[in-house]
Amino acid sequence: MQPDPERERLDAEWVTLNAVRELMRMATHGDSSQSTYDQALELGARICPQVLGDDVSLLKRDRESPTVREFRQRAEAKSRKTGEPVSAASLLESEVAEYRDLLSTARNRQRTDQLKSRLTQMEQALADIAPNRHSESQLIWRDAYSIHRDAPDLKIGQGHKDFLLPDNNVLRVRVTHPERAESISGADIIYERHSPGNRTVNVVGVQYKIWEERTLYLNDDRTRRQLSRMEEFFCKRGLCKPGDTDHTFRFPFCSAFLRPTDRLQSPNQELRSTGEHIPICLINDVKRTGIRGADVLQYDDLRHMSLSYSVFEELFTSGKLGSRTLRYDELQQLYSVFDEMIDKDHILIHAQDFDNWDAAAS
Ligand SMILES: [Zn+2]
Repeated sequence: MQPDPERERLDAEWVTLNAVRELMRMATHGDSSQSTYDQALELGARICPQVLGDDVSLLKRDRESPTVREFRQRAEAKSRKTGEPVSAASLLESEVAEYRDLLSTARNRQRTDQLKSRLTQMEQALADIAPNRHSESQLIWRDAYSIHRDAPDLKIGQGHKDFLLPDNNVLRVRVTHPERAESISGADIIYERHSPGNRTVNVVGVQYKIWEERTLYLNDDRTRRQLSRMEEFFCKRGLCKPGDTDHTFRFPFCSAFLRPTDRLQSPNQELRSTGEHIPICLINDVKRTGIRGADVLQYDDLRHMSLSYSVFEELFTSGKLGSRTLRYDELQQLYSVFDEMIDKDHILIHAQDFDNWDAAAS
């Protein structure tokens, strides 16, 4: 099969976008009004600009208005022609100024309806591409100042970004991914819910992979390696076994989940995903042997034990799913082997959700 760069790019963006959206859902306790695809695209552009940035993303490009696209193309063409970088925003600004100037000449009954409607389109386009757009989601995902805390610190990727959440928790996010965004074939989230007052944490891991026709083949080395990475990190290190401080009324097993995601056929397709979460510990029990002896996971075999995204998020945010409660010294130990979680074909999003307890105290 010939490699198709646009196809690879779209898969990479889609799997990343799904991970970012679920990150937002976990951080806002499943509030769907604060985790739309548009908001996830916004946050994605900020935490992984090489994948979901305005100037590179196929998904973004196809969601922009015809006027925005026209001016992006004009800016590109003009940059080529002059050899100087020209931005779509600056072209729009000068056009808007000219139309306003022309309109100011109108007297009495002169007809200006076409000028006015074009001006409105361009003003809207300018608002859409201006850096401070979408004030609504900016409010929700405000950058938070780093607050001194003694929580374990992880050094991966290009440093961290802090966000202030609606409930006054702080979300600290780190991202690492392969240099070529196109080589991203899956995404991993490690989400930590901290109780800084108790110096404890609960962790959950989710691995996003694209499947076709609700079927995932498990035979190639890459897929096997990626799944066992999760299992080694969570299950085999005992994170899935209850600790003595944990309540026993909860989802019983496994803090590592596989989240297969339907492939997006084209960038302008309506964005929607099914969102089953399968405990990684149980994959061996539900896989079946398919064509030529290959191991496969199929939707029909796993749906009786998988969790929908809303159940998953609700159980995690209410402390009934995820790892056992870890002390900070245990988390520090986990960080010392964190390199094992980094895969050359995956984007890795690491998030620490801090209870506002110590923000108030400091
Ligand atoms: Zn497990």
